[in-house]
Amino acid sequence: MTRTFDDARRWTRLGTDLFLEAADAALTGPGEPSALPGWSRGHVVAHVAANADALGHLVHWAATGEPTPMYSSPGERAAGIERGARLPAVELTAWLRRSADALATAMDALDDRQWRREVVTAQGRTVPATELPWLRSREVCVHAIDLATGPTFADLPPDFLTALCEDVVLKRATAATTGPALLLRTPDGHRWDLPGEGEPVEVAAELPDLTAFLTGRSDGPLTTDGVVAPALGPWL
Ligand code: ZN
Repeated sequence: MTRTFDDARRWTRLGTDLFLEAADAALTGPGEPSALPGWSRGHVVAHVAANADALGHLVHWAATGEPTPMYSSPGERAAGIERGARLPAVELTAWLRRSADALATAMDALDDRQWRREVVTAQGRTVPATELPWLRSREVCVHAIDLATGPTFADLPPDFLTALCEDVVLKRATAATTGPALLLRTPDGHRWDLPGEGEPVEVAAELPDLTAFLTGRSDGPLTTDGVVAPALGPWL
């Protein structure tokens, strides 16, 4: 793993700005479709606002040692997104900004000992609180693109894209369901081996295109044999 805690904090700030800007454009039509199947732009904004509140519970856990889960249940999480997506745009924007500010303020207040405290994510992973900025940066950066108002993976910093590819490859490599074996390369020298079924298929693409493919946001670049790379299942 090449990313550092300081990297993740920087990407969280940058991604939050990018998401807030994209949300302003998206919420002129909150009912318009996002790039995510079945979700409007309003759903994506509500999900990111709810995510800030939920990560805030883990920051509270880190600050106090009192176990406070991200969501009380998966049902509560889904209901919150549905409710939020139907809010008037001005209220949804206010929630988004308030939740992002509160999370940033709470993170800024943690000391070294609190950052090292272990918390449990919604996926059931036990991690030190120092992982929380990475989780948040992933949400704001990737969902800024899902809002489908213009930003693409090429607008995200290459070091973030590299960390994201590493993260997705690791996740896919250890997932219960395996896809096709892939050898992924970029012209600037990155290389990832994704274990899976069959002889590895080689895919060479620019880093933003490879990231879009790995995160399930594109149908896939061409393989070096000139055919479209095999589709990948959901990542998270
Ligand atoms: Zn998300």
